[in-house]
Amino acid sequence: SGIGSQKDRVVTEEEWLQKWEMGNTGFHKEQGHPLLQKYLNVLLNGRSGLRIFFPLCGKAVEMKWLVDMGHSVVGVEVSEQALKEFFAEHNLPYHEEPVPEISGAKKLQSTSGNISLYCCSIYDLSSSIVGKFDGVWDRGALVAVNPCDRERYVSLMITLMEKNSSYLLVTVSYDPNKHKGPPFYVPESEIKSLFG
Ligand code: SAH
Repeated sequence: SGIGSQKDRVVTEEEWLQKWEMGNTGFHKEQGHPLLQKYLNVLLNGRSGLRIFFPLCGKAVEMKWLVDMGHSVVGVEVSEQALKEFFAEHNLPYHEEPVPEISGAKKLQSTSGNISLYCCSIYDLSSSIVGKFDGVWDRGALVAVNPCDRERYVSLMITLMEKNSSYLLVTVSYDPNKHKGPPFYVPESEIKSLFG
């Protein structure tokens, strides 16, 4: 019962790839997320030319918003289809290269150089590969991670943050007995204990 009903649920990488193949991507927001607009100054805090990280990025249009404002974006996503759709839908030329540190991974990078999208699992990344970030946009990421992987995910995210970085997190509030997720219900108290 309660949030216990979700804690053992696992969505495999294969299932995510299938969602993309089937077009079962109701989470994608064509118009971008109003909460990023609303809290943009919290993320940027008057700074320019930031490096912003998009964990579990899908084809989030907010990546384009931020590069258009002069920032650079790094994303990670298991679905290559999602990443290719991102570049295609914004008419952005890109090239692909292997990631020497991660077997089987690819980096898709815009020709302009300011968007780098890693096609691999987030758990394959580290700060020695992607560096550290001034800001994080976490929408559909913590809430999409399997409940059993939350601690691992948050510990990794903390290692990817610069000292003065800001982290915008979007969660969803609902009765976890009524939906199995994802998105999973992550209560405020758990967020506090995860991020400390
Ligand atoms: N943040 C995006 C997508 C949210 S849905 C948005 O706001 O639209 C979650 C995404 O995470 C899916 O596209 C899924 O393919 C991807 N994903 C799931 N597990 C992952 C993992 N371990 N590493 C990287 N991407 C993952």
